[in-house]
Amino acid sequence: MSDSIDPALQHAYREVLRRNPGEHEFHQAVEEVLGSLGPVVKRHPHYLAERVIERLCEPERQIIFRVPWTDDAGQVQINRGFRVEYSSVLGPYKGGLRFHPSVLLGTVKFLGFEQIFKNALTGLPIGGGKGGSDFDPKGRSDAEIMRFCQSFMTELYRHLGEYTDVPAGDIGVGTREIGYLFGQYKRITNRYEGGVLTGKGLAWGGSQARTEATGYGTVYFAQEMARHAGVGFEGNDVVVSGSGNVAIYAIEKVHELGGKVLACSDSSGYVVDEQGIDLDLLKDVKEHRRERIAAYAEARPSARFVEGGRVWDVPCHVALPCATQNELDEDAARVLAANGTEIVAEGANMPCTPGAVRVFAEAGVLFGPGKAVNAGGVATSALEMQQNASRDSWTFEHTEERLAEIMRRIHERVVTTAEDYDRPGDYVFGANAAGFTQVADAMLAMGV
Ligand code: GLU
Repeated sequence: MSDSIDPALQHAYREVLRRNPGEHEFHQAVEEVLGSLGPVVKRHPHYLAERVIERLCEPERQIIFRVPWTDDAGQVQINRGFRVEYSSVLGPYKGGLRFHPSVLLGTVKFLGFEQIFKNALTGLPIGGGKGGSDFDPKGRSDAEIMRFCQSFMTELYRHLGEYTDVPAGDIGVGTREIGYLFGQYKRITNRYEGGVLTGKGLAWGGSQARTEATGYGTVYFAQEMARHAGVGFEGNDVVVSGSGNVAIYAIEKVHELGGKVLACSDSSGYVVDEQGIDLDLLKDVKEHRRERIAAYAEARPSARFVEGGRVWDVPCHVALPCATQNELDEDAARVLAANGTEIVAEGANMPCTPGAVRVFAEAGVLFGPGKAVNAGGVATSALEMQQNASRDSWTFEHTEERLAEIMRRIHERVVTTAEDYDRPGDYVFGANAAGFTQVADAMLAMGV
């Protein structure tokens, strides 16, 4: 049972709990979406009659495989690989691969479920999927990363294809890993199938602006939220959590648009820099030296490092959680609301707990959910697929302009859907209702 879910949908939710025991993040993601769908099924009762929700909660295919590899000491290591091919009604399965020790089947399922609606919101022809492994890249040599990626792809390749399933990166998977994965796919299949993976390097089929896209898109969306609410974006103090790919390019775009990022973090703590985060230094610490964030404060007199601290204690107008799931809880949400934060926009997937989202709603803090806010990454992946299919390569300016336009359209769609159901300003409802309706209609059109 869940109080947040309409009685008509309780059965579907109970089935999810029964079939997927112990997968709490997956339950949380399903509860969040189903919590919005009561008014939608009242207006469209045939979704219930056709059992669309039960169908959608069950992934089309779940793949679990062994990934054996040899480390630099000659020791055999075993990891587990996953790919959840969740929904293919709107296009080939599309979504990233996450390499992190915390990855379990339930993690991949929660991410895959979110991905279905996110991808629908982009308005581009991509279905939903997600994959990954419990492999921990931290401290591994380049050669170890390569051997792991090759072994991972040796199993996964048979499930992929540019019309079937197209992975990309996520936490722990960037251009380097995509390169090793793509090389192995090409080696095994003897096909230069550019569109089988996205997030490729620029010299070998990648798209301009793909690296920047999730972070840039997040800030474009937050800017639209501000514009819609009649408050400016320029001059705002912004706090970003994380210091990975999403956070770095969110910081870059905030600065370009005239805001100031005061703080960012990693799993060891956070740094505050009253002069604004120096992006060149942050990139050097995180992308080149691959060090802890404390190294930033050591190199910058205006900054201080707070070990183990919570970045949300730093007062700001706009908060962008860009690290990982459930990183911003109810307590942190209360601190943000008390400090007068006006906008929270999720650059990561499900970084705010349900309790935090409730606090924002009660306190009148505008809240943008990840499936709308961070859709710029996967949208630009779809643009990469488009360029690969037409053997073309666009300029950075053209690609970024398309990204900005897609983010504006997603915002418009979410806001209009919420208004249509008489819930103005409810981005959670708007995103879930708009994404779900498109996927549900396509499922019905294609039959059981
Ligand atoms: N991992 C990203 C996401 O969460 C991007 C997926 C993709 O580009 O396929 O949406």
